[in-house]
Amino acid sequence: MTTTTDLELLPACGRHGTMALRPLDRQTPEQRWCGVWYDCTDPWCRTATLLPSPELRRQLAEQAEAAAAREGAIRIDMSRSVTT
Ligand SMILES: [Zn+2]
Repeated sequence: MTTTTDLELLPACGRHGTMALRPLDRQTPEQRWCGVWYDCTDPWCRTATLLPSPELRRQLAEQAEAAAAREGAIRIDMSRSVTT
């Protein structure tokens, strides 16, 4: 049964509204790995929404962590150059 709460969670196109679940047979293995895709139902609109998979979320978190670590290293180098 669909409730109002369920409908509010569905992605929507900013211009056309309704989006449809992309059929699995119209996705590459990479797209399937990334998560669940929705496409705008307007035939000329290319708007798509991705609900990321746990695997993709994990990879993005790892990349953000690595970027933050690099940022920290840069900060240390700058303070060192100030003191010398
Ligand atoms: Zn659209």
